[in-house]
Amino acid sequence: MSDSGGFDSHPHVALIPSAGMGHLTPFLRLAASLVQHHCRVTLITTYPTVSLAETQHVSHFLSAYPQVTAKRFHLLPFDPNSANATDPFLLRWEAIRRSAHLLAPLLSPPLSALITDVTLISAVLPVTINLHLPNYVLFTASARMFSLTASFPAIVASKSTSSGSVEFDDDFIEIPGLPRIPLSSVPPAVMDSKSLFATSFLENGNSFVKSNGVLINSFDALEADTLVALNGRRVVAGLPPVYAVGPLLPCEFEKRDDPSTSLILKWLDDQPEGSVVYVSFGSRLALSMEQTKDLGDGLLSSGCRFLWVVKGKNVDKEDEESLKNVLGHELMEKIKDQGLVVKNWVDQDKVLSHRAVGGFVSHGGWNSLVEAARHGVPVLVWPHFGDQKINAEAVERAGLGMWVRSWGWGTELRAKGDEIGLKIKDLMANDFLREQAKRIEEEARKAIGVGGSSERTFKELIDKWKCNN
Ligand code: UDP
Ligand code: UDP
Repeated sequence: MSDSGGFDSHPHVALIPSAGMGHLTPFLRLAASLVQHHCRVTLITTYPTVSLAETQHVSHFLSAYPQVTAKRFHLLPFDPNSANATDPFLLRWEAIRRSAHLLAPLLSPPLSALITDVTLISAVLPVTINLHLPNYVLFTASARMFSLTASFPAIVASKSTSSGSVEFDDDFIEIPGLPRIPLSSVPPAVMDSKSLFATSFLENGNSFVKSNGVLINSFDALEADTLVALNGRRVVAGLPPVYAVGPLLPCEFEKRDDPSTSLILKWLDDQPEGSVVYVSFGSRLALSMEQTKDLGDGLLSSGCRFLWVVKGKNVDKEDEESLKNVLGHELMEKIKDQGLVVKNWVDQDKVLSHRAVGGFVSHGGWNSLVEAARHGVPVLVWPHFGDQKINAEAVERAGLGMWVRSWGWGTELRAKGDEIGLKIKDLMANDFLREQAKRIEEEARKAIGVGGSSERTFKELIDKWKCNN
């Protein structure tokens, strides 16, 4: 008998997400799924969040799931100048990592498992090992990116020179059992060995072998060969099982019912089927003013109807500029007849599931790509930083999308309006991609349906956790 009165057959799982919607979103979807599978769930969060979207998301989640225990993790004071980084999300990952040794009191009563964000795992593992608590990683990008993250420490070790620098003598990284990864696709921050991102990337990559398993928001039809190679233990010796549990489904609590959403849906209702290209770069990427104008020109020259989500600043709390100021009067006037432009949080699931949407221009955030896969919407990926090129390669391989290598990283190079226009035209006219995307949508449905690969994997995990009670 458990101390909570006969819940023994229901595993108690705690989750510790990291900063940013790209991390919080899959965590909360996973938590909701665990509740639906009769698990007891504890959610460990830090405040204040970096973005407003995160605060709202957690609050909507906790209202929708009052049975979830919310625990606040109070962080030690952290001086951002003490870390070699400027990105506010990365700085928060570091702040959580530096406080991780204080987590133990939050990990009671006895839990069946902890699920830890990939960015925190090396700092949290010593605590859970000490408590004999099974610790699983939730990896928030593609399985292809995971194969790089897990292999990178060994790759770096093999390329280190006597002076301590790392020298790559080839343009590709070879990973056993997988198509090689161009060096140009590796997140630039990883290549700067002194950066905070690079050091924690290595530490986290080194620690997967000590974790009990890795959950990924992916599914067989999307990344079949990578998942097979990972689970065949061909990629890294000693790697624990990789559990593909995707696509993780958006939940009721995420739905937006505000005037902006109504306006968008009403506008989409008036457009012909498959005619609209949806343009959004996720929750934390604002294009430069110049690139925003070029993209506007590109959308106009494509001749396609479009729904474009503009951001003025990377962090929503600082994004106070009006849409008119970001786009300028001239562009605003020109686009009126061809598209709808908004500058606020959009209910992406509602947009991607709308029959009028026939294509998606995305930065390549993994959540967005999996959402496109689930709704069978072909994607033009325009990677800007981080895992986005590697995610782009994954969806290109799957047949869901395309990307333009010569555009490079969006944060470094500027793509011209006419090139953008041509590629968008290509995307919207590409019947082959459309058919592939529909096939992947069907496979996604099967994966999470009764007896599907992701559903079975998820149940297998829960059964394992029941044994830990
Ligand atoms: N998102 C949304 N509305 C927006 C912007 C983003 O619903 O206006 C969601 C999107 O559906 C996805 C997440 O925020 O679930 C963004 O994660 P992703 O991995 O795509 O990119 P990131 O924001 O981490 O770069
Ligand atoms: N990542 C990792 N280990 C780390 C930090 C990041 O494997 O220590 C992976 C993780 O999957 C993350 C991706 O690298 O999603 C890209 O990180 P980025 O800085 O682009 O941030 P994100 O878009 O995830 O917020």
